Amino acid sequence: AAKGLGGSRYLTYEPGMAGTVANHVQLGAELRQAIIDEQFTLLYQPIVDLAGGRLMGVEALVRWTHPGRGVIPPVEFIPLAERNGLIVPLGRWVVREACRQFAAWSAEHGAAAPAVLNLNVSARELREPGYADDVAAALADTGLSPHRLVLEVTETAVLQLGGSVTNLTRLRELGVRVALDDFGTGQSTLSLLQNCPVDELKLDQSFTQAQVTGEPTIAAAVLQLARVLGLHVVAEGVETPQQAQRLRDIGYHAAQGYHFARPLSAGQLGESLARRDDAGPVRGLTGQH
Ligand code: C2E
Ligand code: MG
Ligand code: MG
Ligand code: MG
Repeated sequence: AAKGLGGSRYLTYEPGMAGTVANHVQLGAELRQAIIDEQFTLLYQPIVDLAGGRLMGVEALVRWTHPGRGVIPPVEFIPLAERNGLIVPLGRWVVREACRQFAAWSAEHGAAAPAVLNLNVSARELREPGYADDVAAALADTGLSPHRLVLEVTETAVLQLGGSVTNLTRLRELGVRVALDDFGTGQSTLSLLQNCPVDELKLDQSFTQAQVTGEPTIAAAVLQLARVLGLHVVAEGVETPQQAQRLRDIGYHAAQGYHFARPLSAGQLGESLARRDDAGPVRGLTGQH
């Protein structure tokens, strides 16, 4: 990261971002406008049962449709939004929109609708004093049970919270679950795992993809760890049938990845729900990155 000129929050470079300070400042201003104009959409990636490929839940993934630059992926604007604080209003929109959509699917498709909604949350949002209240209000307004909601936070985010885990603790008291995203790539220690308010691990895709048949793997070790700690575990980034089979062999039950389904627009997921009122496999769905 390059810093200078008094360490303004706009001056840290991220890979893939426009390479000049001027462009970066402009992107920040455009992001502010984008929140006012609601230039965001959510894609929903299925989380499936490895045994039958059945839809268990969906993870909401935000996209920014920029009026001039087209669709911008989160890696291009979430870090900026975290630095300039815009992640707070953006996250508020994400929670409301995802809960609204999820409740609509439940009403329309009943048992065929996803049972669980996963949302990504930044440390910056969790430090916001009213965060738990905002989420609770979004659940109440859409009639969604807190038990249907999983908040995905990274290990690094939890470490950044230090002792200020009040929002997470409050939400867990309501019945909302907390997952550690990209598990294994952060800086967490086993003692953090034991002490932090978490219910689920999401095995990072690098470990899903590094599996070699017949060899001991990090994926298997993480599953054992999850069992010891009484945590649910989901494998991320399953891209091939071999990876899916290997996960089944070592005892995984839940997974996510392009092999099963790409992130889908709300319309695409809704159509597939309409076709599957028997809640059959989601395998073979196409979608978008
Ligand atoms: P994540 O939460 O770990 O989400 C998984 C990412 O992996 C998504 O990228 C997804 O499209 C991608 N992915 C899914 N299956 C596969 C696969 O089989 N292979 C590969 N190579 N990739 C796969 P995406 O949508 O670009 O999101 C990137 C990150 O941006 C997310 O990582 C999350 O940390 C963050 N993010 C996304 N939406 C939000 C949001 O609403 N709020 C916050 N705070 N962060 C978000
Ligand atoms: Mg995630
Ligand atoms: Mg992840
Ligand atoms: Mg990731």
